[in-house]
Amino acid sequence: MALGARCGYVLLPDKRGAFRRRITVDVLRETQERLAEQVRDLSRLYDLSSRLEQTHELPEQLLAILQCAAAAHGTTQGLICLFDDSIKRLVVAARAGFDDAAVRALGSVEPGTGASGRAFTERRRVIVMDTETDPAVAPYRELARATNVRAVHSVPLISGSGEAMGALSVHFSTPHFPSEREMHQADLLAQKAVLYIERRRAEEALRASARRLEEADRRKDQFLATLAHELRNPLAPMRNALHFMQLRGSRDPEMQNARDMIDRQVRQMVRLVDDLMEVSRITLGQIQLQSELVPLAIVITNAVEVSRPLIDAARHHLTVELPSEPLYVEGDSTRLSQVLQNLLNNAAKYTPPGGQITLRADRDGDTAIIRVRDTGIGIPPAMLDRVFEMFTQVDRGSALSQGGLGIGLALAQQLTQMHGGRIDVTSDGAGQGSEFTVRLPLCAAPSAVAEAADRAGAFHRPARRRVLVADDNIDGAESLRLNLEIHGHEVRAVFDGAAAVSLAEEFRPQIMVLDLGMPKLDGYEVCRRVRERPWGDAVTIIALTGWGQEQDRRRTLEAGFDRHLVKPVDPAYLAKLIGEADESGPIAAVG
Ligand code: ADP
Repeated sequence: MALGARCGYVLLPDKRGAFRRRITVDVLRETQERLAEQVRDLSRLYDLSSRLEQTHELPEQLLAILQCAAAAHGTTQGLICLFDDSIKRLVVAARAGFDDAAVRALGSVEPGTGASGRAFTERRRVIVMDTETDPAVAPYRELARATNVRAVHSVPLISGSGEAMGALSVHFSTPHFPSEREMHQADLLAQKAVLYIERRRAEEALRASARRLEEADRRKDQFLATLAHELRNPLAPMRNALHFMQLRGSRDPEMQNARDMIDRQVRQMVRLVDDLMEVSRITLGQIQLQSELVPLAIVITNAVEVSRPLIDAARHHLTVELPSEPLYVEGDSTRLSQVLQNLLNNAAKYTPPGGQITLRADRDGDTAIIRVRDTGIGIPPAMLDRVFEMFTQVDRGSALSQGGLGIGLALAQQLTQMHGGRIDVTSDGAGQGSEFTVRLPLCAAPSAVAEAADRAGAFHRPARRRVLVADDNIDGAESLRLNLEIHGHEVRAVFDGAAAVSLAEEFRPQIMVLDLGMPKLDGYEVCRRVRERPWGDAVTIIALTGWGQEQDRRRTLEAGFDRHLVKPVDPAYLAKLIGEADESGPIAAVG
């Protein structure tokens, strides 16, 4: 019996004298132990899975894996070291059974040294059976003694793409050579650690690229806002000068043609710059609606009035069909008109000359339906959903490019949605025309009294006013002075803030039109100083600036301005506004 126990079985004679294999008790015990070990490994892995599920923090995940690896080796000590590319060394990412002092003493590990450093560099398992005798760990011998380490089993952490990331090591207090099962467990757990490290790195890379995108997006918005502002500044004096030339200019038809050409180009520039401004307002969520009850007919009439020159220039025939009953919507009439202007302008732009454009408004229950149909070049089916996306243009080759920015429909959609409505498009394809449909929730008609008051308020007689203009852009100030004088006002122009304050004392303007960024004193300070004077409250102070964001408007109103107008302002509109200012006090603070 004793003989057979060594090789696992003995040969014993049976009743008939033949020899048969008989399994010894020792072999049985060994098998039983192996089975029990496997059960323990499995249950450890099961516990590990549930621990890993409970946390999203990589250090905790690595610690759980490391503790599991140490337990699988029957020890409690271990380290996971990861390669830090910035210092070209391995640093401790998780530790079990080592205190702060030990980790401090270890510091970071030079690749190629110690068990972890070698496993990392050589990309293979490293076993130090006895730290007292292995020359490869001589530099760490003192530390090993101090931390009660006599043996180490290290496995490399290799990423899916084959990159060495670090090492997982377990430590023993007595000399030890890992069994096959222990090696298998170490490999398995190293793979698990790699999985979690890679997942975390992928998440970090994703977050970093999202941050970069957000930053790029923010800078783009900022750039567009600054660009629009900078482009607006030179447009203001150009527009003023043009207006002046139109009022006073030569009757020579060639000069008139040249003037009209400049006028058209400036208008186009103003439109593009306005679109740019709108993009940054939309993306920063800064569009605020000045809501009121508006007759739909007014919204439509205003839109048609603005788009008419473009429609006429292309000799299109426009038909407008309004419902017989008055319809009202709750909203910002300027913004709603802008939606329809965009659709009418597009219809004019994307229809060959002499086409037919139809705008038709109907009621469908509680909804107003406004359709803008054209007989133009149409939209391919694949682009129907995409034309509302920002910066989207249908690619038709440069010959058909209409010089837009691909912003109009995105803006129209956003504005319609802000009014609780929606906008859709249909087209049967190339050459078949397009039809855009705007749906808006309807409101009940206002009382007759309110309507009468509205009508009464609509008529003001412009009057002659004393106006002080201050702008460090001399062309801007002078051209505005000329325009306002032509409209019958008495105007003085100065080119810095200090001059504005001192001239105001003597000239006692009823209206001041102030640029904000001026030398000596800025527009805010001029406004503040004028308001401090006994006569200052009665002055209507208008900010005329390139900055048109909501926060800019808020800032001027808070500083004491009555109105905030964005350059370039239509000189005729400004002259009319000034003429309407009530002598007893400032004009309504809107705008
Ligand atoms: P823009 O006109 O400045 O390019 P929009 O956002 O207004 O930008 O329109 C986006 C694109 O949709 C246009 O470039 C054009 O290709 C297409 N589109 C818009 N309206 C029409 C229309 N009525 N007919 C044909 N294509 C149109």
